[in-house]
Amino acid sequence: MQTSTASDVKKSPVYLQSLGAAGTVTGSKHLLITPDLNILVDCGLFQGVKALREKNWEQPPVNPADIGALILTHAHLDHCGYIPLLVKNGYRKKIYMSQPTRDLTELILRDCAKLQEEDAEKANKHGYSKHQPAQPLYTVADVEAALPYFKVCAIHVAIRLNEHISFKFYPSGHIPGACSVKISCYQKTIIFSGDIGRNESELLPAPEPLNDADFVVMESTYGDRLHAKTDVALEMAMIINDTIFNKGNILIPCFAVGRAQEVMHLIYRLKKQKQIPSAIPEYLDSPMAASAGKVLQHYPEWFNIDDKECAAMFSGVTINQDYKNTEKIIRRRGSKIVMAASGMLTGGRVLEYLKHYLGDARNTILLIGFQAEGTRGRALLNKAYELKIHGKYYPVNAQVKEIEGLSAHADQLELIAWLKQFKKSQPLVYLVHGEPCAQEVLRVKIKDELQLQVKIMKQYEKELLFTV
Ligand SMILES: [Zn+2]
Repeated sequence: MQTSTASDVKKSPVYLQSLGAAGTVTGSKHLLITPDLNILVDCGLFQGVKALREKNWEQPPVNPADIGALILTHAHLDHCGYIPLLVKNGYRKKIYMSQPTRDLTELILRDCAKLQEEDAEKANKHGYSKHQPAQPLYTVADVEAALPYFKVCAIHVAIRLNEHISFKFYPSGHIPGACSVKISCYQKTIIFSGDIGRNESELLPAPEPLNDADFVVMESTYGDRLHAKTDVALEMAMIINDTIFNKGNILIPCFAVGRAQEVMHLIYRLKKQKQIPSAIPEYLDSPMAASAGKVLQHYPEWFNIDDKECAAMFSGVTINQDYKNTEKIIRRRGSKIVMAASGMLTGGRVLEYLKHYLGDARNTILLIGFQAEGTRGRALLNKAYELKIHGKYYPVNAQVKEIEGLSAHADQLELIAWLKQFKKSQPLVYLVHGEPCAQEVLRVKIKDELQLQVKIMKQYEKELLFTV
């Protein structure tokens, strides 16, 4: 009879597989495949060019019923927007997230479903969809079916998933509720960065320090760029004052959660300091903005500012929930500041403003966030002379400005500094959530500056992390 030795024991692999946000910035879905539990980190929608958006309609290569846990880093649509479909297709386990992420995700998913239903309805009415009839990707009912699986977790507290695996959340700046995830898996540590915020932000604290990791799965949105070191407040004041002088309107495309509050706070500060006229009307046109504002006021501990200032910055803004009023705001005489989603001009109310404001050289379109390839936002940054909206072309005569310093994402310097905290433990780094050029530049920089091994994740390719 033979006795078994350690080398005879069959080893089981632990893999990392990206189902999205590999070579692109949207569709975040990263699967950790372990011998007895498959864990999905984030479950986002693809956004941007049509080829990407169409991926939302494809079945992922993993049966949702075979996933044992979903951990959500934050409430942005490109991280949470696929959840209703995952549940619709058979996922029946818990979805772990921080408290603000829970509240914001519900709002965002409901809003997304409602907009899709509205868009499909409009497309069918006006016949501008190639699909007959146009269908929403999911409905409000699909969102409601996913909500019972939401499970709120405290930050810094270990959540046990099985006898070998647990995880903890660590705030990462970016938007309220956003966290990095530290997964302890068979004595190895795997960090998923989520989206990494700024070290200095108007409203949000810097990402929390972390250390020690065997593997780091890291975002790379601005892997090839440094945010200009200009004074953001001064830039904003100049843009607003110039546009008022020209009797134009300032349109700021931004999502109703996160960036909108950052901009609102900056404008509130500029008005208070009399750097811009305090009488200029300010609108936040979003069906969910009022609810998001209320949610955020419940979580002052996630902000740099006190409750009073938080309430004050909301008080100066007219929030429009009803799309019937959008036309009235557009037609209202005199200069105004309008914030409306979506931030990359891919859809939503902001398109109605664009149709009216784009052709007039007195107006300013102010871009403040990352503009993915193929979006109207990127086209504007690339000096497009016309934009196609709902099947029609509109000439670009308005001023197009960008304030990079208001971005919610760390730049190259901040990404390197964030990664440096793990240097002692010499982790293997996997880059996700970035476009190919940015990722390649960051890969080389990490190798040169930190002497760490780096790989760029490719969609659906399984990377063997270790065996157990
Ligand atoms: Zn994000």
